[in-house]
This record gives sequence, C-alpha cells and structure tokens, in this order.
Amino acid sequence: MKIDLHTHSNVSDGTEPPAGVAAAAAAAGLDAFALTDHDSTAGWTEAASAAADLGLTFVPGMEISCRSAEGISVHVLSYLHDPDDAGLLEEVERSRDARMTRAERMVDRLAEDFPISWQRVAEHVSPGATVGRPHIADALVAAGVVEDRSEAFKQILTAHSPYFISHYAPEATAAVALVRAAGGVPVFAHPVASSRGRVVSEHTFTEMIDAGLLGLEVDHRDNPEEGRAWLRRLAARHDLLMTGSSDYHGAGKLNRLGECLTSEETLDRIEELGTGSRVIRP
Ligand code: AMP
Ligand code: FE
Ligand code: FE
Ligand code: ZN
Repeated sequence: MKIDLHTHSNVSDGTEPPAGVAAAAAAAGLDAFALTDHDSTAGWTEAASAAADLGLTFVPGMEISCRSAEGISVHVLSYLHDPDDAGLLEEVERSRDARMTRAERMVDRLAEDFPISWQRVAEHVSPGATVGRPHIADALVAAGVVEDRSEAFKQILTAHSPYFISHYAPEATAAVALVRAAGGVPVFAHPVASSRGRVVSEHTFTEMIDAGLLGLEVDHRDNPEEGRAWLRRLAARHDLLMTGSSDYHGAGKLNRLGECLTSEETLDRIEELGTGSRVIRP
C-alpha cells in the first residue's frame, strides 16, 4: 500500500480544494492519504467523500503550528482527533485569528516596498482558509515581484526578513497534550528540517515525548539524512511511530505526492491509537 500522511489543500496553503488533493492522490497511485491542513479540519468532509468516490483510504489530520519553550517554530501533526474537541479548537482558533492579524501587519510593511495590498493577498485566500505567508507569496508572484512561492520565501518572507512578523502559537508540549485529550495521535512534523530555521534541542523532544508525543515524521524531504538516522534511534529508544510523507501543497511547492511514504503497519497503529475520529476505508 502507498500511504502519504501529510498534504495541504486550499483550506490552508495548498493550491487545490480538498477533492482536488484526493484526485491528485489517486493520480499519483496512492492507496491512502491524510489531509493535514494548517490549524483547520474544514477540508475533512470534502476530502473524505472524494476519497470514497476514488476508492482511496482517507485519514483525517491537521498540522498545528506551535512554538517550543526556546521560541523555535514547531509543527505537530495530529491524526484522528475529535474535530469538535473544545480545548484543541480553542487553541487552533486563537492561532488562526492571530495569523490573520499578523498577515495584515506583514502586508502593511511589504506595501511600503512592493506593489501589494491586503486586498490583493485576500484574492489568493479561499473563504475561511487558514492564512499564511504562502498567500502573501502568491500576491507577490501575481505582482511580478518574484517568480514563485519559493523565490518569495528565499528573498522576502523568511523569518530573518524585516517584513517577517511571528504569530501566536501554542507551546508544542501543550499542543501534544491537547491532541491526546482530543483522542488524536500527535506526530512531530519534519522535526530536523534545518533548512526551515533552527531545530529544537533534544530536551524539547524529551519534553514533547513526556507530554504524550506518539510519532516522528522521519522521512520528509526537509529532514537531512543524518537527522533521519538520529530520529530513527530516538524512535526506537522511546517506542515512537515513524512516518514518511510528502507535505504536498499542490502547485505551491515542489513536494510531490508519494515522494515519502508510511508503512501499512504504522497506519494500522495510528488507527488503533486514534479515538477521536476514524480512518475511512473504501
Ligand atoms: P506560515 O504558516 O505563515 O508561517 O508560513 C509557513 C508555510 O509556508 C509553511 O507551512 C510552508 O507550507 C510554506 N513554505 C515555507 N517555505 C516555503 C517555500 N520555500 N516555498 C513554498 N512554500 C513554503
Ligand atoms: Fe504549509
Ligand atoms: Fe509543516
Ligand atoms: Zn505541512
């Protein structure tokens, strides 16, 4: 079975609607995929029904933007949590609100130097979607400032740029505990992705494991090979699940569906451990 447990639709910063992600998953020869939009589960219903039509297994998921105690950006994937759990909802809604204010403030700064406005950015955000820097990148592309999202991130939108503003995000340990309380299976996304910025200390891994972390996303294009070997040892030591996934964003990133995969045994374990919602099999 070909299983890819990390994808984004236009419910966050992917470029296709959830049904389009399902169609792309079928076209890529996948048997199962998870939709893991940033801080939102709004795409689950559409993705699940498209997956059923296509004969694919659907795994409901979400990617939660968090921060470590040292202030480093951390992403936690949650699988099979209850989408209506009040504690988790409150935190992701707070993040989503903060993302909106933050994006508007970043656009104010950018508008001093580039031909963009909040209205131009909003044209690239689907109704109700979680707003992120990729949408600002799309407006910069449309204005002819950069060629694509990657160039926008390299030159203008990185965390080191004077235009960058951070947003509220729950602490990673708190998010892990909330996912567990919501019946979900928390997996640390691209944990050693040094190309994205600073990587957390081993101490933070330990704290997240103590808080209830159940897995590590080992195979991801942004994890360097030495880092993956270290993650495999850590997973063995703490009996954690190991996943592999693409982090597909449609046309918004080079990541291709199925470029990294998760084993069937691991998906079965996730299914056993997750109690807040269900894997939908054809
Ligand atoms: P934000 O959520 O606003 O902090 O923006 C981070 C998001 O931007 C990540 O979830 C990635 O999907 C996306 N991103 C980061 N780097 C790149 C890149 N080089 N090209 C395209 N998208 C990127
Ligand atoms: Fe993203
Ligand atoms: Fe991520
Ligand atoms: Zn992602």
